[in-house]
Amino acid sequence: DKIWGMMDDPATGRRFINEGLTRNALAQAVLLKRLQNGDKKPFIIYDEKSLGKFHNLNRVQRSLNGLNGIDGTMVKYDNLSELCKAFGADPKVVEDELVKYNAMITEGKDAQFDKPLERSGRKVEALDLKGPLFAMVINPRLNYTPGGIRTDLQGRAIALKDGKPIEGLYVVGEASGGLHGQERMTGCSMPECAVFGMIAGESAAQRKSI
Ligand SMILES: Cc1cc2nc3c(=O)[nH]c(=O)nc-3n(C[C@H](O)[C@H](O)[C@H](O)COP(=O)(O)OP(=O)(O)OC[C@H]3O[C@@H](n4cnc5c(N)ncnc54)[C@H](O)[C@@H]3O)c2cc1C
Repeated sequence: DKIWGMMDDPATGRRFINEGLTRNALAQAVLLKRLQNGDKKPFIIYDEKSLGKFHNLNRVQRSLNGLNGIDGTMVKYDNLSELCKAFGADPKVVEDELVKYNAMITEGKDAQFDKPLERSGRKVEALDLKGPLFAMVINPRLNYTPGGIRTDLQGRAIALKDGKPIEGLYVVGEASGGLHGQERMTGCSMPECAVFGMIAGESAAQRKSI
């Protein structure tokens, strides 16, 4: 959903990234930015119609209501200067960035960071700067560990030395690795954990001896 907005570094007031990158790439870039800018959290700006493109409108509402956990609150601002004040960014620079951003989006090419301007059949559109505007900090947190122990389709652990299943040893959930590769698609961890948990359980129950 970051793809619908413009992300900004409060230290410089400037846009600094293609907002449509994968969550891992965004997280790493944001953390690096914080290392470089005195630990100021980047923020993202939306208008009303871009919020309407979020994949989970219920979550947006929870976020607006302050029910989305630490740093998960989306705040509504009447105008850009109010918004910039809240994030400690220079409003003149941010406005300049937004005007440039809007011009590129309207032209149909992000000449700065090459953000794709369409996702899931919906188009990225210029942000309406008249307000209201919406913004929140971008604060990456760990919610998934990629990689892990190789398993087969029954959830059995695969030995590194010969690629064969280790009898009686099952691995499921985040301890297992390989299904998603380096980048997990959002929302797909719990299905994997649950499905392979059940398969491994059935497989273990069918074993004659333990
Ligand atoms: C904030 C957040 C949001 C997420 N959102 C999504 C989402 O929208 N969709 C999605 O698919 N995934 C999401 N995930 C990821 C998903 O929740 C996890 O990948 C998944 O729950 C991992 O399941 P698991 O069974 O491997 O581990 P866990 O769910 O962590 O289960 C491990 C269990 O083992 C217990 N345990 C640990 N040590 C011991 C011990 N020594 N003895 C006994 N018990 C022990 C723990 O208490 C825990 O209950 C999210 C994760 C986070 C943190």
